[in-house]
Amino acid sequence: MRPIDLRSDTFTLPDPAMRRAMAGAEVGDDVWGEDPTVRRLEEEAAEAVGHEAALFVPTGTMGNQVALHLHSRRAPQTAGSASEPAAARRGWNIAGGEVICDRASHLVEWEMGAMAAISGLLPRGLEAPGGLLDPEAVERAVDPGDGFHPRTVAIAVENTVNMAGGIPVPPELSDALLAVARRHDLPAHLDGARVFNAAVALGVPAARLASGYDSVMFCLSKGLGAPVGSLLCGGAYFVAEARRVRKMLGGGMRQAGVLAAAGLLALRGGPARLVADHANAARLARGLAELPGFELNLAAVATNVVVFRPGLELLGGEEPAEGRAAASLPRMRQAGVLASPADRDRVRLMTYTGIGERDVETALERLGRLAHRPLR
Ligand SMILES: *Cc1c(COP(=O)(O)O)cnc(C)c1O
Repeated sequence: MRPIDLRSDTFTLPDPAMRRAMAGAEVGDDVWGEDPTVRRLEEEAAEAVGHEAALFVPTGTMGNQVALHLHSRRAPQTAGSASEPAAARRGWNIAGGEVICDRASHLVEWEMGAMAAISGLLPRGLEAPGGLLDPEAVERAVDPGDGFHPRTVAIAVENTVNMAGGIPVPPELSDALLAVARRHDLPAHLDGARVFNAAVALGVPAARLASGYDSVMFCLSKGLGAPVGSLLCGGAYFVAEARRVRKMLGGGMRQAGVLAAAGLLALRGGPARLVADHANAARLARGLAELPGFELNLAAVATNVVVFRPGLELLGGEEPAEGRAAASLPRMRQAGVLASPADRDRVRLMTYTGIGERDVETALERLGRLAHRPLR
């Protein structure tokens, strides 16, 4: 029995057109600035999210970390007196600053503590009910650094909010969060790993969700379907500095046009395709909601993610010591459906190019059998 693999949209495989584009890509040494395919990808990516420039990075994690590293030590852009508050904030943050973000965000939970290890930063993780940060809570969390507390150095927003179930952050909320950042002269970073999913779900251009931020990272390697790569976008000065930090972190890639060629197809054709992933996730969610043992909020399924809490009827009736996610994943695997943990008690399923309507129906049949099997 071939398992239906719903663990992540990172399991997309390059299609034949991508493989052909990769084989025929025009390349050069990108660290020397001489790879025309990477250049083209960076130009088109910047335009797609409404920014001046972009940098091709191997992973979204590196894109996020390069951005936070720069935001935590903004180099003075004009010669200014250090006694001037804005100039002081720009030039003198060495380490120990805080990044305000969702406590369940990728930055906090899934990047191996990178902001602390690389940049000496602490995440200030806020509770985000339903996945959405509250601008007033963000405002209250901003700390100017009065000699007693860590100083806020940046605000980071995720869109879509993956672990909350792929929730798209609407433009009005995004604007309200950006307004807080502006009021406090703080840079704002968008972890837009799936910002194109958000744009498709909300029916707005990705630039509407991304252009107001000082920096934006998005992934080609998820639902857009490329095998590797992410883009870090921002102003020309920011991206020039980001290029230096990428090299410092070991992310300077040479004939990366081989990857960028696939990335270009993903960027051009991927967003329109996401509609199918979203429809498949909605079908999956509706089907699960009808089964006993799958607790989920149907109204919250808006993109390609379905998060549910396994009910005790799936787990032999008793609260498992290892948590409901760890207890249910092997049972689902046995039934022929692969899933991943969202947190201790919740399971995440994702749709992507490799998952068709038939696969969704098959997954529902298999999980249905699991749900209706007599309990031990
Ligand atoms: C996947 C992802 C990233 C980047 O992950 P990489 O595996 O490093 O490319 C960042 N943020 C979110 C929300 C993600 O889902």
